[in-house]
Amino acid sequence: MSHPHPRPNVLAIPPYVPGKPPAAAPGTTTFKLSSNENPYPPLPGVIEAATRAVETMNRYPDMGSSALYDALAARLGVPAGHLATATGSVALIYQVLAAFCEPGDEVVHAWRSFEAYPIAITTAAATSVPVPVTTDGRHDLAAMLAAITDRTKVVMVCTPNNPTGPAVTQAELDAFLDAVPPHVLVVVDEAYVEFVRMDDAVDGIATYRSHPNVVVFRTFSKAYGLAGFRVGYAIAGEPIAGALRAVSLPFGVSAVAQAAAVASLAAEAELLERVEELVVERARVVEALRDQGWSVPEAQGNFVWFELGERTASFAVAAEAAGITVRPFAGEGVRVSIGEVEGNDRLIAVAGEFLRG
Ligand SMILES: *Cc1c(COP(=O)(O)O)cnc(C)c1O
Repeated sequence: MSHPHPRPNVLAIPPYVPGKPPAAAPGTTTFKLSSNENPYPPLPGVIEAATRAVETMNRYPDMGSSALYDALAARLGVPAGHLATATGSVALIYQVLAAFCEPGDEVVHAWRSFEAYPIAITTAAATSVPVPVTTDGRHDLAAMLAAITDRTKVVMVCTPNNPTGPAVTQAELDAFLDAVPPHVLVVVDEAYVEFVRMDDAVDGIATYRSHPNVVVFRTFSKAYGLAGFRVGYAIAGEPIAGALRAVSLPFGVSAVAQAAAVASLAAEAELLERVEELVVERARVVEALRDQGWSVPEAQGNFVWFELGERTASFAVAAEAAGITVRPFAGEGVRVSIGEVEGNDRLIAVAGEFLRG
């Protein structure tokens, strides 16, 4: 035909549904609990560092993000060469596929899991191999192992799993990694690692050190409260980290984002105090929901999952009416972020009313 055609895989890319901002209802406070954001404002040092960086907007950012690499290397106790920063860890998902997958190669991942996975996999013209999570929202690592074929290049392990909530244990991950062929790259997506409070939690750093086929993804978007600035990073051995840097968009992470991330690492104690408050709120919400009769899967991120099937849309409408915006997954369930205390209270109230009918 007489016009340019994108590659067929481009037409097959599923849409990303962003968490909606709350509809403004006059006279009422609304709460956006749809995108797993940190509800707290940035710490003062972060705003000042970002503001200083704003003044350099006529210049390209430091392409090597050297201050950020140095700060991360010091914080994590890893060589800077084992790191790759990117515009959010979503960008790292694209980069890992660009660096490791030929068209048609298979990528195994849990499902329902992070909705960016099938989008990025389809974009890369790779083949998505979704493996259903268990009825309690956990990764079925045995089934994921069984799904690995000769064509498998990458396996995504999302822990804690967005949107269902549970995290894998180190013992589960170790057993899985022992069985995965060494040429298959295993991504451990730890976007919510700071919120994990469990026995035998995964130690991503120790895991990448002992496994040359493991890459850990982390982000400043969730616990660190910098979702709007787009900064994520990968931790892996030099060959993997180097490949991720090689395929990155030049000058992707802005100077403002670099400065804010470095300042956030410097203010880590205060930031993690706020994370602890969210963890306490999470426990309060989960307990209240279970008391009401909901079977909420183990929540290790900053969100809770309601498996609702056909009632998904009506729950989202009820939440909206109560001034909280949630993230519905049509026909499956609703994910609700842990936010401000008042927003969480409204969630508990709405959930209780919903059960009563
Ligand atoms: C939010 C999220 C990310 C990444 O977010 P960025 O803002 O792109 O860093 C990655 N993985 C999972 C599972 C997430 O929920």
